[in-house]
Amino acid sequence: MNPARPASPEIVRTKIVATLGPASRSEEAIRGLVDAGVDVFRLNMAHGSVEEHAESLARIRRVAEELSRPVGVLADLAGPKIRLGELPGGAVDLVEGEHVSFVRGTEAHGPGEFTVTYEPLVDELSVGDSVMLADGTISLVVAERNHDHVRCRVIQGGTVRSRQGVNLPGVRLSVAAMSAADWQHAEWAAAAGVDFVSLSFVRSAVEVKLLKELLRTRGSLARVVAKIEKREAIENLDSIVEAADAVMVARGDLGVETDVASMPMVQKRIIRACQRYQKPVIVATQMLDSMQHARRPTRAEATDVANAILDGADACMLSGETAIGEHPRLVVQMMRRIASETEKQYLADRWRYMEGRFMAERGSAGVPVQEFLPAPEFLVEGLHPITQAVVDGASRIAGELDAKLFVVASKSGLTAIARSKRRGAVPTVGLSDNLATLRQMSLYWGVTPLAGAAAGDTAALLEHVCSWGLAQGRLQRGDRILLVAGSGFGTGGHNMALVHEV
Ligand code: PEP
Repeated sequence: MNPARPASPEIVRTKIVATLGPASRSEEAIRGLVDAGVDVFRLNMAHGSVEEHAESLARIRRVAEELSRPVGVLADLAGPKIRLGELPGGAVDLVEGEHVSFVRGTEAHGPGEFTVTYEPLVDELSVGDSVMLADGTISLVVAERNHDHVRCRVIQGGTVRSRQGVNLPGVRLSVAAMSAADWQHAEWAAAAGVDFVSLSFVRSAVEVKLLKELLRTRGSLARVVAKIEKREAIENLDSIVEAADAVMVARGDLGVETDVASMPMVQKRIIRACQRYQKPVIVATQMLDSMQHARRPTRAEATDVANAILDGADACMLSGETAIGEHPRLVVQMMRRIASETEKQYLADRWRYMEGRFMAERGSAGVPVQEFLPAPEFLVEGLHPITQAVVDGASRIAGELDAKLFVVASKSGLTAIARSKRRGAVPTVGLSDNLATLRQMSLYWGVTPLAGAAAGDTAALLEHVCSWGLAQGRLQRGDRILLVAGSGFGTGGHNMALVHEV
């Protein structure tokens, strides 16, 4: 390394997804969050009206244009979440050992009776099933069932409120994958040009394909994110990951639907599956939860973010922290700092090692790749095998030559995913002339989206990237860069890796 080289601007490879809500919906707040490091905003369709989400989307688009930063938007569909109906007085205290009943219809006839938003629940529960309320803090077990109600014994008591979620760990429900509201929200997302649409409580690959088809038939190329939060999803993990464009480890419900004690290992398993199938993966929920009120995270939270990155997460997500918390901007800055420190201090050797044997021999710790993440096993869906091989080879060359930038020209963003999943230490620039592709790249680990032509004149591409890199302080004269592009080869593929000295 050249000792006289001035520090280049900090690059944080792990992407940050932030949920918008009352604390962060204003245009000024959105600007502050983008400035602090948000790459993708989540619109939680379970709350707020479509009109509100449309207004948030318009604000995000305006801010992104003003700051010349491609920012992704994820519309998160509520999926078949079952909720309690109205409770007398809005809340009821449940005491251990007492009995309560779930009844058909929309009307409860006493304090010990609950209605739910899912009519056939009474038919689908069996004696011995668990029912969890209030985010898993209250648990019941089904003691008796007859044709119009299900009687449950309270195992763990507490206060339950109207419209709170009902989790049924391990119970196989016949509920449709998407409610009428989900269809309406998906249609809105397609028409509005949202970049990602996620589906909650996915159970099988068919459900993911259904949403994809709905979006495609409405002309949307939004990437579909499967939220893994049910036991059935874990049983069908490989096929769901294969069908999805990206995956979310939705730990809020996952930690209730499965044993919370096993969730850390489930998180690792999901991330490893995403690495094998080359799908971006987001780790979500309670990452910096205490910062909803506090100005600093707990030690455990800071460690959780770092460990998710070490597990191989492409992105970390903030929920209540940015939606309703007191310090949305501070929490994004904190997440970014943790990601930066984690990437800098612990992973550099491993990434170098993954870039190529040469770097490993030249002095990395020689940690076996497998210890960090499995090698991708399947091609990026839709990517030509030649392109995949070129990206792999170029990634090795970039490591060997200590390149300062890895540039992928990418029309659809698929080549950028292949590069991202190599987990290379050399910073990557994803070039595209398609704004929607650039916004999707904002989720891909290590990829900085940059507007520019994705194909054609190689000399012009290099000129464009070099002048951007020099202006940004990311490049100096004499630096080497790797370019993966195409020389008029078929459609949807690149067949060229080029080393350029600035
Ligand atoms: C989760 O359950 O972790 C999650 C992200 O989904 P939601 O916030 O919609 O509950």
